[in-house]
Amino acid sequence: AKRSGRNRAVAYRAEFDAEVSQRLHLLAELREALRLQQFTLVFQPLFDRAGEAVALEALVRWQHPQRGLLSPAEFIGVCEESGLIVELGRWVLQEAARHHRLLDAAGLGRLRMAVNVSAAQFGHDLASDVKAALQQCPMPAGALELEITESLIMHNFERTIELMQQLAAMGVSFAVDDFGTGHSSLAYLKRLPIDRLKIDRSFVQDLATDPDDATICASVINLAHSLHLSTVAEGVETKAQLDWLRERGCDEVQGFLLGRPQAFASLLPVLLGHGGP
Ligand code: C2E
Ligand code: CA
Ligand code: CA
Repeated sequence: AKRSGRNRAVAYRAEFDAEVSQRLHLLAELREALRLQQFTLVFQPLFDRAGEAVALEALVRWQHPQRGLLSPAEFIGVCEESGLIVELGRWVLQEAARHHRLLDAAGLGRLRMAVNVSAAQFGHDLASDVKAALQQCPMPAGALELEITESLIMHNFERTIELMQQLAAMGVSFAVDDFGTGHSSLAYLKRLPIDRLKIDRSFVQDLATDPDDATICASVINLAHSLHLSTVAEGVETKAQLDWLRERGCDEVQGFLLGRPQAFASLLPVLLGHGGP
């Protein structure tokens, strides 16, 4: 028994080492990817109740030389653990601002540009990164929206509130992403300059079939409205979900049914009403 316990420990140790070295390898590749500009943004539209596009969410991808186009699930975790997300996030902000300029040039400057930010960016003077991006590519006040999570908010509330107020004073708006999955308290949310709650995809997914999820979605919409916040439902994939959300007064929708994340060049003609669905 002792023997097999030891073998197990050795096997476990080998597995652990393999995983650590894999992560280190990935991190080295990611550093290189930043330097070689292998990251790219795709954009997913958000629509209002009239079906007009009102915003784009910027989502990062990694054009890996061997593995092809990688989604954030494959690399954001390592970026966050290592702090590399600060540098990647800076690049995302600059690219998002640059693309908003392209939108503006096409007569679509009214669209908001939404950017996801991680807790580590909040810890690293996000305000100066935002300021730098806006200086390079000016956007109208209110056009830049940052999507933050409940855990980020609750992680260091006093610091968060200070930074959010500073950014809000610059005209930046805020959406709480994946709302309903975290543990933020209303007492806290009320004190923050938040404009929008994004109802998490997991609740939207089954709202036509699961009464509990439908109740959650309806409650978030009502709660948001009573706090004078707007609502977005993410992950809308079916007409039934869309109809339900419209009927309950959800302000904006986003999902594969209405538009997938795609390259700016292919999205622009759709937004301009040439071609597309
Ligand atoms: P998120 O912010 O919740 O983004 C929404 C995710 O849902 C995106 O995945 C999007 O492609 C996907 N999605 C949109 N509509 C639908 C739908 O109808 N059905 C389904 N099944 N999925 C849908 P993606 O692009 O893989 O991004 C995953 C996560 O990675 C994002 O979740 C966000 O948390 C993170 N992320 C993406 N870009 C950035 C970034 O620039 N910075 C940071 N810090 N995080 C990012
Ligand atoms: Ca998001
Ligand atoms: Ca989400």
